[in-house]
Amino acid sequence: MDYFGSHISRLIEALCGLPGVGQKTAQRLAFHIINMPKEQVQALADALIDARTNANYCRECFTLTDDELCPICRSEKRDHRQIMVVETPRDLAAYERTGRYDGVYHVLHGAISPMLGIGPNEIRLKELMQRLQGPDGQPACDEVIIATNASLEGETTAMYILKLIRTLGLDIKVTRIASGVPVGGDIENTDEVTLERALVGRTEM
Ligand code: ZN
Repeated sequence: MDYFGSHISRLIEALCGLPGVGQKTAQRLAFHIINMPKEQVQALADALIDARTNANYCRECFTLTDDELCPICRSEKRDHRQIMVVETPRDLAAYERTGRYDGVYHVLHGAISPMLGIGPNEIRLKELMQRLQGPDGQPACDEVIIATNASLEGETTAMYILKLIRTLGLDIKVTRIASGVPVGGDIENTDEVTLERALVGRTEM
């Protein structure tokens, strides 16, 4: 039954199904939105369209950026021989907040999860391997730091990356961030000191 009228129901339906947004949250958001000043709603709608239209993936590391290359990949101050592999742009942001990492990144946009039906082809793994193999067949970096989450999916992905690098015969040091990140814990929700410790204490795989 349509309790709220078709306009609000349509808004609830559009919000419902966003990550973490169920029916109840969608209703709450919808009622909040219809009570907002019209200009504020317009600004929100504009921001949604603008982000969706203009945000790109960096062609080198696949993080989100306005340009073809993100500021980190463009920077000459960063060590391009050290690549940290993370699951999401939010994890990249978490490591940037520590201010203690000066290498570059590779964003996978997910992790391998047989349970959710996410295989190696669903994340940016192929792109990582292409990037690691320089044009002359020589490794394009000295170290790959695997900073996927300490979850089953994150560990599976880490092992898979190690296997791929070894199968390709690339002479690259592969390290895994230390288990300072709580088991099953998300990198994006881990504090800076713990992340820094996990980075410093990384071990060779
Ligand atoms: Zn980049």
